[in-house]
Amino acid sequence: MVNWLHSLRRKLKEEQASIIYPHEGFLPPSQDTFAAIGELSRVVRNNPDAVEIYLALGNLFRSQGEIERAIQIRTNLIARPHLEPQFKARAWYELGLDYKRAGILDRAQAALEQAHKITGDDPAVMKEMARLAADSNNFSKAAQHYALLDQPLPQAHYLVRAARQEEEKSGDARAGYKLIEKALKVYPGSVEAWLEIVCRDYRHQNWTNLRFDLKSGLQNVESQLRFVLLEGLFQFIAARSAMDENIKDQAECSSIVANTVAGLEQDMVLCYYCAIFMKQCGRYSRCLEWLEKTLVLSPDFWPARLEILELSLDDQAMTESFKTQLMFFTRRAKSVKRFVCQKCGLKREQLFFNCPRCYSWHSISFRTQLGE
Ligand SMILES: [Zn+2]
Repeated sequence: MVNWLHSLRRKLKEEQASIIYPHEGFLPPSQDTFAAIGELSRVVRNNPDAVEIYLALGNLFRSQGEIERAIQIRTNLIARPHLEPQFKARAWYELGLDYKRAGILDRAQAALEQAHKITGDDPAVMKEMARLAADSNNFSKAAQHYALLDQPLPQAHYLVRAARQEEEKSGDARAGYKLIEKALKVYPGSVEAWLEIVCRDYRHQNWTNLRFDLKSGLQNVESQLRFVLLEGLFQFIAARSAMDENIKDQAECSSIVANTVAGLEQDMVLCYYCAIFMKQCGRYSRCLEWLEKTLVLSPDFWPARLEILELSLDDQAMTESFKTQLMFFTRRAKSVKRFVCQKCGLKREQLFFNCPRCYSWHSISFRTQLGE
């Protein structure tokens, strides 16, 4: 099936041929195509096998970017008076995907709701409704759908985003906190929720809470995701200090980070983060100590070597030309994307909770080897 599709697509590309008139070698005007679709619709009326083919034809059009044609097929199917409910539901479902592909999200939602009316909480329909709600920035609705799908991880993710949305809208921090607490209740390992909490602690300069929440967060999230909590907090502070640099708060926070990490089993990525927190607030000798600790755990950990190189540049006697060349390479090395999706290999410099390419949840990891 897949090979067939592949070769048909290639053929279409090469010959500019039509699916409906494959032997004509040209693309008929779209009205003729619609007429052909209408004709095909009449021919296959109330024949279940033909309906399957008809739906597949629609999917083929969609995959070719011929959304109008795909929509026409679904609409013709839905208009049939005696179409069996499961086919009607499928036609509504596919119509929803067609509209989504076309970027008409409200119509996509309406179509999926029609499918939902027929099928009830069918997982395929629910999943699309959840994604659509998320794409339309309706995060609390997305969370509700994922709850019905019994998927607590994405449910917690969208609860946190709903919390932020709620707070921006109403300016009421308590409403947001409630949603974050709910996120942790449904999924205690939600790194998104813990990150939101520690950033709030920092914003309120509540160091006692930060100490407690950072420890709880690092203990509750999966160990390979711990760095996400530190990277997120680091970025949050960096963004704030661009507006209002407060070295005292940063120093307080870096001590809390270092003390918390020191209480966990040794981990090179976390040691590295202690170093960059120290560097952020100008504590360079402490930074160097943590970098050395990182390299004891893993001599190949490239970001630590890069930081050491940068820190020691000022102490070296170098010609200007040599320094320029070296700076060039350190700058290039700094632009290497540090994060990778463990499922599909997508490399990114920004944190992600849901891989933008393969849609896996919490599949991010730190690239500890440059060849990864
Ligand atoms: Zn991926």
